Amino acid sequence: MSDDPHAATGGRDIHTVRFPAADPPDQVAVLIVGAGPVGLSAAVELTARGVPVAVVDAARSVVLVRAGAMGHSPRTVEHFRRWGLLHRIRAAWTFPPEWNRGIRLVTSLAGHDLVPVRPLGDGPGRFSLARPIRRPQTALQQVFLDHLRQRGVTVAGGWRVEQLDEVGDGVRVTVTETTTGATRTIRSDYVIGADGGSSTVRRLAGIGRDGEHATEKMFRLVVRTAEGALGPAPSGTNIVVNQKASGFLAAISTREWRVYAGPYALDAEPAESELLATARAAFGTDVDLELASATTFYHATRIAQTFRRGRVLLAGDAAHVRTPGGNLGEGFGDVVNLGWKLAAVHSGLAPEALLDSYDAERRPHNWRIADHALDRSRRSRAVLAEIRAGGIPDDADLSPAAEARRAEIGELLTGDGGNRGEAPGVTFDERYDASGVIWHEPGQLADETPWAAAVYEDDPRPGHRAPDLYVDPWGDTLYDRLGDDFGLLVLGDDRTVEHALTAEAAARGLRLTVVHLTDGPSRYRYGTETGSILIRPDQHVAWRGDTLPPGGAAAVLDRILALPHASKGTTTMADYLDFTAPVGLRTRGTVLIVPGRGESTATYRRLGARLAADSYRVRVAPAPIIDDTDVPGSLDRYASLLADAVKGVGEDGPVTPLVLVGADTGAAVVAGLVTRPAPDAAWWPAAVVLAGLPGGTAYQAENWDDELDGRTHCPVHRGVLSDDPSVRPGSLTEPIPPLLLETAYAGTADLPHLLLAGADDPYSDRERLARLAESLPLARLAVVHGGHHDVLNDLQHRTVAAEIVTFLEALRSGPPLAPIIQTAHSAW
Ligand SMILES: Cc1cc2nc3c(=O)[nH]c(=O)nc-3n(C[C@H](O)[C@H](O)[C@H](O)COP(=O)(O)OP(=O)(O)OC[C@H]3O[C@@H](n4cnc5c(N)ncnc54)[C@H](O)[C@@H]3O)c2cc1C
Repeated sequence: MSDDPHAATGGRDIHTVRFPAADPPDQVAVLIVGAGPVGLSAAVELTARGVPVAVVDAARSVVLVRAGAMGHSPRTVEHFRRWGLLHRIRAAWTFPPEWNRGIRLVTSLAGHDLVPVRPLGDGPGRFSLARPIRRPQTALQQVFLDHLRQRGVTVAGGWRVEQLDEVGDGVRVTVTETTTGATRTIRSDYVIGADGGSSTVRRLAGIGRDGEHATEKMFRLVVRTAEGALGPAPSGTNIVVNQKASGFLAAISTREWRVYAGPYALDAEPAESELLATARAAFGTDVDLELASATTFYHATRIAQTFRRGRVLLAGDAAHVRTPGGNLGEGFGDVVNLGWKLAAVHSGLAPEALLDSYDAERRPHNWRIADHALDRSRRSRAVLAEIRAGGIPDDADLSPAAEARRAEIGELLTGDGGNRGEAPGVTFDERYDASGVIWHEPGQLADETPWAAAVYEDDPRPGHRAPDLYVDPWGDTLYDRLGDDFGLLVLGDDRTVEHALTAEAAARGLRLTVVHLTDGPSRYRYGTETGSILIRPDQHVAWRGDTLPPGGAAAVLDRILALPHASKGTTTMADYLDFTAPVGLRTRGTVLIVPGRGESTATYRRLGARLAADSYRVRVAPAPIIDDTDVPGSLDRYASLLADAVKGVGEDGPVTPLVLVGADTGAAVVAGLVTRPAPDAAWWPAAVVLAGLPGGTAYQAENWDDELDGRTHCPVHRGVLSDDPSVRPGSLTEPIPPLLLETAYAGTADLPHLLLAGADDPYSDRERLARLAESLPLARLAVVHGGHHDVLNDLQHRTVAAEIVTFLEALRSGPPLAPIIQTAHSAW
């Protein structure tokens, strides 16, 4: 036997990965906190897109025996391939890959197969040209580190993030060197918190988590054997089921194996001898074992309440942890979703609003996966209990009865309740259905088959993963052709859409690769012989069609980059801003805010947070776009947007009462909508708030300062409007279609109305408003002293929010609607 500890791997040290000893920079575009696999892959992704990054990690090294992830899905391998690192990851094996014979289901390593071993296939999988791979996450980290070193990216080990301050247009992060205690500040445009499950960045950004706590704990053991003790090529990846051990028994090096023990009570501290006895039962032989490491993990779900707060973005375990067995795959999915968006914002191609879609797309996806994983782990534990109760024959028992029982156990394990059911939905179905930057097709979201873990079919509808395929018979793939760019698949002979989209993309400096799919099978995979399909750099379909929608190529690119698009007749983007009630408090109702001219969802961040602090679930929808030649159609389109908006606000629909709050033209649209009774519609409100309903007077602001004066005197809000690139200056001079105002002021709906008007609003018509209040059966007109047009966001914003909360609380206690507090005496 060789004395060289790394002889088996040709001299590679597979046990310890050392982070470089470097000083963090003073300034960088994106600071990544955490050099785990997610943080390092984020650096790889952003560097490939030309975004300057640096990584800091509190640790100086990581070790194989504490590595979590081993198995990586074909979807993850597709990312490795796009990063150009698949070959290096393959070469970074830590035990001879030929030890793997798929995942064997056994009574013990030395015992019996419980299901026949499936022969290794040699073609591509059904839904991907990639195959899954097994490499410990430390091996991936080493490859990422080498790649980043070659590109001159700073990765600084031994620096712990201690403090984080958002300052104007950036973030100031204070880091402390763990050995010397020296501190430094790093100024960056954005921070990615990839600092694991107990993320400091998440805590410093004030982001809470939801989900289920564990009631028991599990141990992940790494045990060491003598070299060759298990034969020359033992089966490297096994799932063991016997009376003492259960779960993975997997080689991580030629001498070290991972095995699981538990469940134990949360406060249990089992003796080493007990843990080793479980490990020995998994091997099924009396092999000499040394305990190299024992770490705890939990069957629990903890998901951040938002993946983005301002300039802080969370990814990987910092954003979501779930029952083990693939969470790193979701972490890589976060990185791939976020990378192109952050690069587009960094280069000025897209506004910051694009980053909101990161949360809107990834958080619901992670919830789906986590719920499935927890359910599956509960079911498989119930099956294990059933199997153990029914008996598991001793490995030495070779009788026909024992063989029959083993076959029965195999069937129980592979059946519905077992742990071995395929879950292609988890691997491939990352559909983004709550996203405002996807051009979903009319009715698509209502018609689609619901997401299911066990089901996946290639489905190139907007929001879904674009299927990969060979573009020629020599192995070139679609994903290789597209690389890091946006892609346009052209399936027919008509090149009108192609010419329009390529011209628009070129004008914006957006890299777009066009691929003409002419062969039948490829077109078959995309389910059409004609039309074009626009694919985002994360390989998700953004839009498809035979012809471009109204607004043309500009409208399509505007939506997928979250840019406001002003052309007439287009539906608005469904990009929501969400606020939830404080953790532990029951949600008291739901408020949907409809902004007005020129405003973005971010305009209502302060009001949203305030109402949410009072336990209301708040969602800010995008401002309506009104076509003056088709006011009823515009109202119809906004009604369907609201129908979409209420879908995702609560697990079982919105918590009632549901109240619509409109501002400016948003108020006019809300008022217009409730003149057309639709009590069965999911968005139909219990009451409405109309704030700053415009009178139609054409006050002409001369410049931005003048417009701001008409809107608000609150210095903070003036800053919010001025700093938000999505806010359109000059928008208040845009005429409002007279038919919309006539409809709004003709309102007679018997819903409770709270009308809020600023006493100094140059855009309001107080007499007309008073007449409306009198004509409505249940209205209250509240005039705000000194308030301007943006009455929800003026100096009196706290009092105005309190007035809304008072209205909401009265609604909750009604009907009949009555004030909760009566002033019996007041000296002022
Ligand atoms: C038993 C088990 C089995 C698993 N199996 C699989 C599997 O087969 N497949 C799979 O995909 N996933 C699996 N996982 C999950 C996987 O291990 C994790 O999802 C993965 O480690 C998350 O990577 P990350 O980069 O987000 O976080 P981490 O790997 O936790 O990295 C976070 C980094 O941040 C650093 N850090 C923390 N705080 C600070 C601070 N204040 N300042 C600076 N740096 C800081 C830490 O030092 C650390 O290096 C498994 C997990 C467990 C427990």
